[in-house]
Amino acid sequence: MGLRTITRKTLLYKSGVEYADYALNHAEGCAHGCTYPCYAMMMKKRCGVVSSYEDWVQPKIVENALELLDKELPRLKNKIKQVFMCFATDPFMYRVEEINQLTLQILQRLNKDKVKAILITKGVYSDQLVDTQLYNERNEYGISLVSLSEAFREKYEPFSAPYKKRIEALKKLHDAGLKTWVSIEPYPTPNIIRQDIQEFLESISFVDKIVFGKWNYSRLTTAYIHNKEFYNSMAYEVASFCERRVIKVHIKEGTISPLYLSTGQSAERVTLGNYM
Ligand code: SF4
Repeated sequence: MGLRTITRKTLLYKSGVEYADYALNHAEGCAHGCTYPCYAMMMKKRCGVVSSYEDWVQPKIVENALELLDKELPRLKNKIKQVFMCFATDPFMYRVEEINQLTLQILQRLNKDKVKAILITKGVYSDQLVDTQLYNERNEYGISLVSLSEAFREKYEPFSAPYKKRIEALKKLHDAGLKTWVSIEPYPTPNIIRQDIQEFLESISFVDKIVFGKWNYSRLTTAYIHNKEFYNSMAYEVASFCERRVIKVHIKEGTISPLYLSTGQSAERVTLGNYM
């Protein structure tokens, strides 16, 4: 059975986020069903668009997405610096082929008008993206990754792609000369899972950019009494690693604690030298 469908009145919107400029969401809901919980799902539930977690994990595809792009791009293409895909769904949902195919069509349509896209997924990138006749080589391909533990993934990102597959697909794009990045957010505190940040960073050391951010919207991390020191120290580890490997780094706002900054040497170094 195919996915449920919806139609929208508009697709491209100004994101209000500095690095994203414009954005689009060509589905309502997301099959990955993250349980951190997912911020997009909380917002959609709050405004009554999505009724429950079960509703959220059965995404509806925007059936007029390409039609809308044809209408909107002539007016907007010269204004747009880049389009972010996606803030409120995932463009390469694991094993949801209909969404993935629509994502490829949308990218082709944007790139045909020389509009660059920045993507992020917890799924698996398609090999087809290496075809630079169809897809702009300035696109930036990112994965969201916070742990190398499959047990963690099954609990917190239950229907997303296994980590190994996410990394392998991203590496293929990197090896083809395309720009790649990783979002390490929400990074878990040790009471959620203990992990070796160096081993983790090594697994993605080929990328061009790393974004690091703390775990929000849950009592789990604030229950960890050393969470401020922990995030300051992890931010320092990430920034130092990126400096050594010549990787761009961005530490998300609110990850480093200002209180600790006044006395903590390591975090101070992060703020001084490594913001992108
Ligand atoms: S992949 Fe992103 S949009 Fe999808 S459920 Fe997880 S956090 Fe939400």
